[in-house]
Amino acid sequence: SGSGKFFVGGNWKCNGTKDSISKLVSDLNSAQLESDVDVVVAPPFLYIDQVKNSLTDRIEVSAQNCWTGKGGAFTGEISVEQVKDLGCKWVILGHSERRHVIGENDEFIGKKAAYALSQGVGVIACIGELLQEREAGKTFDVCFQQLKAFADAIPSWDNVVIAYEPVWAIGTGKVATPEQAQEVHVAVRDWLTKNVSAEVASKTRIIYGGSVNGSNSSDLAKKEDIDGFLVGGASLKGPEFATIVNSVT
Ligand code: PEP
Repeated sequence: SGSGKFFVGGNWKCNGTKDSISKLVSDLNSAQLESDVDVVVAPPFLYIDQVKNSLTDRIEVSAQNCWTGKGGAFTGEISVEQVKDLGCKWVILGHSERRHVIGENDEFIGKKAAYALSQGVGVIACIGELLQEREAGKTFDVCFQQLKAFADAIPSWDNVVIAYEPVWAIGTGKVATPEQAQEVHVAVRDWLTKNVSAEVASKTRIIYGGSVNGSNSSDLAKKEDIDGFLVGGASLKGPEFATIVNSVT
C-alpha cells in the first residue's frame, strides 16, 4: 500500500437479519483492529439504524446506494439526506451488481456521486471490467471510461475512495493476483495524474475488491498501489474481516 491511510470496507450486500447482524456487530466490537486503518461497514439500509446504535464508533457506516438528488416523490428510493440522518459517512456507488444486475449506467451513477459529495457524504466509487472485457484486452478502456464518468460528474476527489473490483472476481472465489490488481491500480493512478491532477493521483486511495479473504489479503496489501480493500462475503464474518483490516502493511 502507498497512498494515504489504509481503507477497508465491508459490503454486507442484501444479507442478514436482526439477529445475525447483532452477532456480527458484537464480533466487530470485540475485534482488535490496527489503529492506522479506516474501517467502514455497509449494512443493508433496513439495518443501518440498528448498526449505528450498537457498533463501536471505531468503525464508520456506509450506505450501499442512494438517490441522485434530494428526497421526495421517488417511491422505494433512499435519499442522501436520510443516509446522513442515520449517521452514514459513506455511500458505495457503481458497484458491479448495481451496474450489471440492476442496470445502472455511468451517467446515473455520476449524478448520485455528485449529489452525495455535495451533501458531505463520501463516495466509494466502484469500477471494474467483466471477464469478457478482460479477455478482449479492454480492461483499461472499461475502467477508464467508468472513472471518467465519475470525474466528469464530481467537483472534487477529496472525499472519494476508488474501488477497483474486477467483476469476474466478485463473489466467485477467483481473486485477482496481486500483480493483476497492481497493474490496474497503477494504471488508474496514472489516469488520475493525466486527467485530474498529480495531487489527486497521489492522495486518492485505490482499494481492491473481489474475493478478498483472510488468507489472500496480506499479499495483495503489499502492492504499492493497493491502499485497502472492499470486501463482500468475508465481511460477514467478524474475525475474518478483522484479519483483513489488520493486513495493512
Ligand atoms: C463486493 O461485493 O464488493 C465484493 C468484493 O464481494 P466479494 O468479496 O464477496 O467478492
